[in-house]
Amino acid sequence: MKKIAVFMFIDAMGWEIVKNRDFLKDLLPHRYRVGMQFGYSCTAIPTILSGEKPTVHKHLSFYYYAPDKSPFKMFKYMGLGILPSSIADRWRVRHTLSKFVAKYYGFTGYFEMYAMPFNRISYFDYIEKTDLFVPGGLSPVKNLADTLEEKRIPYHISNWRLPEFQNIEALIQDVKKGEINFAFLYTAAMDGLLHRVTKDGPEITTKMNWYEDHIRRLFKELEANYDDIHLAVFSDHGMTTLTEVVDVKTPIEKLGYKFGKDYVAVYDSTMVRLWFLNDTAKKSIHEALLKVPYSHVLNDEELKRYNINFPDNMYGETILLMDPGFQIAPSDMGLKALPGMHGFAPEHEDSFAALLSSEEVNIDLKCVDDYFRLMTQKMDSL
Ligand SMILES: [Zn+2]
Repeated sequence: MKKIAVFMFIDAMGWEIVKNRDFLKDLLPHRYRVGMQFGYSCTAIPTILSGEKPTVHKHLSFYYYAPDKSPFKMFKYMGLGILPSSIADRWRVRHTLSKFVAKYYGFTGYFEMYAMPFNRISYFDYIEKTDLFVPGGLSPVKNLADTLEEKRIPYHISNWRLPEFQNIEALIQDVKKGEINFAFLYTAAMDGLLHRVTKDGPEITTKMNWYEDHIRRLFKELEANYDDIHLAVFSDHGMTTLTEVVDVKTPIEKLGYKFGKDYVAVYDSTMVRLWFLNDTAKKSIHEALLKVPYSHVLNDEELKRYNINFPDNMYGETILLMDPGFQIAPSDMGLKALPGMHGFAPEHEDSFAALLSSEEVNIDLKCVDDYFRLMTQKMDSL
């Protein structure tokens, strides 16, 4: 009997988006609400691909304080920090520079500098330097590809650099050959669309219909080439609609402390992560953080519960998290807020991920790291 297990990842297709839709209900009748890993896709994907938490695989956000080993030190010497922001902030300029840096250092992972100011970037290192999807990509932690190789299961894992249509086609071609027994199909366009039009945009229904048509096409090929098929479609998180924009940078900078001498901060879209270089700055910045509306500083219990209690404070000594819907702008991720954003508290209804399966799942899908256990369970039944 020819068996195959196919896991299709749709970035940001949260539980709130699928729960009231008939999306593939006949093929995927078993539907589960799954807890999000605190963070962004850059936290969730390594979590899904390893079954480990951020404190183990070390991925939480892109930038972390590491002035000694920063690959961006060259920017200091290139004088990019003094470029007028009208040029330095252009997406195309940053994208081209990102490509140049990635090539120079041989980065194979997803690398984008976003809106990180050039006069600050040299304080930071970047976590996603390697391709997380290939063998050794999360080394020393074992990832999905390592596990498949170890178990000697012929597999197909998408190339995340390609547009999703090409990824679907590439899998269909491999299914036609009938040589694989496991597939991980990666699609990410839904995330970008949700950022632009929110979960309530009419474009979401059109996009869901598009996925439905292609998944049916894929399923037909699976049926033509295999006797036993397990198909699951799943996501890493949902999308929360923008309520209000909060400027967190100005009140911190108004205090007059020197960046890199008194403190260091990364402004993500939904959180600020800070490191303090002296106690005076720490005390007064903490006081200022208490006054930032619609936010709170994560306490030890939360850091532990979210599995982001890094012993070396790799991602910040202090993390300020915005309330769901309240985005930080300008941030180091973008100068303007987006209509939709993720990365808020996992407990909020819009944060939950979803897994839709052709058969009943017999493990407890508490959080997205459980997908990995489900995938290995399937591997063992092939
Ligand atoms: Zn996103």
